[in-house]
Amino acid sequence: MAATIGASTEPSSIARWPYRGPLKAIIFDWAGTIIDYGSRAPVLAVMRAFGALDVPVSIEEARGPMGMSKREHLQAMMAMARIGEAWRAVHGNEATEHAVDRLYAGFLATQAGLLLEHAELIPGCLQAVADCRQRRLKVGSSTGYTKELMDVLAPAVHDRGFTPDALVCANDVPQGRPAPWECLENARRLRVFPMQAIVKVDDTTVGVEAGRNAGMWSIGIARSGNLVGLSQTEFERLGPAEQASRLERAYDELYAAGAHQVIDTVAELPGALDALERRLVDGAGP
Ligand SMILES: [Mg+2]
Repeated sequence: MAATIGASTEPSSIARWPYRGPLKAIIFDWAGTIIDYGSRAPVLAVMRAFGALDVPVSIEEARGPMGMSKREHLQAMMAMARIGEAWRAVHGNEATEHAVDRLYAGFLATQAGLLLEHAELIPGCLQAVADCRQRRLKVGSSTGYTKELMDVLAPAVHDRGFTPDALVCANDVPQGRPAPWECLENARRLRVFPMQAIVKVDDTTVGVEAGRNAGMWSIGIARSGNLVGLSQTEFERLGPAEQASRLERAYDELYAAGAHQVIDTVAELPGALDALERRLVDGAGP
């Protein structure tokens, strides 16, 4: 069947495949990738939202669905057996949607207060973005935060030197990660195609999956991200063996989610982009 379709298509368009480069755009995640080493702000806000309604949750439970839009994140946590049971013990058989609405309202209020405390850039970020500009890549971005939250956060990060060409928020699209819509909306706003010319960079497994689902290259961020979940100081305080084992687990999970490359932090991005460019020249696609 493919041969028939090919035969009826103009030869000039066939000759352009496989796409051999260059890369044209990059889409950065925010927390854990560009800012907020360890992606701690959203975890604290999620934990406080549950705590305020007398259902304390662990840091691991709060980190589990990280990367999804925040309402979907809270929904996923409510669907966890332990949390559902604890919720019912305190609140009875309250309808789940209503419970998620209450949690989400608490989350938004808490998160807004925490954002500016976690707006610091991850070391090497500005140099990595400058390298992307030198490669003539357009710079997009996507986040599980809502537009209302980004209206607070983005200006603070702009003041620190990071200003993407496009910003797609959780409520700009019908469904959060791992759905590809945030990535594809970036491509549309940046006017960039094909998807094989675009790289998604993210510190969560659902973010890596979203890049793959969009047909893009996907780079995972291990050390500064959600899977290690520590500030730079906390990470550096660990012994070498503990550091290595935490990193190994994060690398494994990001590769298992479909990452083409995994790097420690955004500072290592130039080498990863070189590797992807070589794969494109060799005729490989994402
Ligand atoms: Mg993130």
